[in-house]
Amino acid sequence: MNRPTEESAPAYIDTSKASIARVYDYAIGGKDNYEIDREIVELVRKLAPEASQAALDNRAFLIRVARYLATRTPITQFLDCGSGLPTAENTHQVVQRLRPEAKVVYVDNDPTVIAHGQALLEDSERTIFSSADIRKPDAVLGDPATAAFLDLDQPVALFHVSTLHHFADSDEPARVMAEYIDRLPVGSAVVIAHFFDPENEDTALARRLEEILSRSPMGSGYFRTLAQLESFFAGLEMLEPGIVPCYRWWPDGPQLDPEQPMQRCVAGGVGFKR
Ligand code: SAM
Repeated sequence: MNRPTEESAPAYIDTSKASIARVYDYAIGGKDNYEIDREIVELVRKLAPEASQAALDNRAFLIRVARYLATRTPITQFLDCGSGLPTAENTHQVVQRLRPEAKVVYVDNDPTVIAHGQALLEDSERTIFSSADIRKPDAVLGDPATAAFLDLDQPVALFHVSTLHHFADSDEPARVMAEYIDRLPVGSAVVIAHFFDPENEDTALARRLEEILSRSPMGSGYFRTLAQLESFFAGLEMLEPGIVPCYRWWPDGPQLDPEQPMQRCVAGGVGFKR
């Protein structure tokens, strides 16, 4: 695999600092990452060898939800907050294959993602990229390019997949989501996946992983409870089966391998504004 090296890294990338986007990229098998990013995943793997499977479950959840929304709802506008580095199947490829008229806005402020995101856009005029800070709904929805590209009076699918667990409590994730939801028109969908503390025998693992991630050079990775995750969907009508471990959300088929503990510590759900 052709990985970039610290020496060959472009000047806009600081390879002495871990990046959430690059750590995740390594976890799901990508090549856009550096030693400092890989070390974090390896630390997690010592405790949970299934870390990559849990990250892949999260990505597969995003793809299944994108497919569902593109085929089963009238939504044609997708706002993918914290979209991450381009991977095998990106949101615009999934939804535009099924609904060619769908428009997709990717939002991410990581320098590597910004560089790759712009390159990725060249394959579709119905896809744009914004470098807004996703902690600020005003900045995301008010970005002039996004506001001109999307019709914010028509339903939007807002994705916050594996983003809010990088918000500290002081970033007030529930308030931020309430602000997004308040500004979205009726008919919109909100998609969230998040590190999860199931408040059972898996709690010890969740708490230990939280400690490792928040003390790592990445600096964040909070495992929140069902009540906390529900608060991010406040006022929305949840789609069945509600908030569940990502691999259990309308899977493509039966789980063939035995489930591993960390797979139960990443949960997702979809809510609609009615
Ligand atoms: N959503 C993708 C997925 O689940 O497959 C990628 C998730 S990745 C773990 C989280 C992404 O959120 C990273 O690419 C990171 O750069 C981005 N991100 C984190 N905080 C952000 C912020 N304040 N503004 C914009 N992007 C942010």
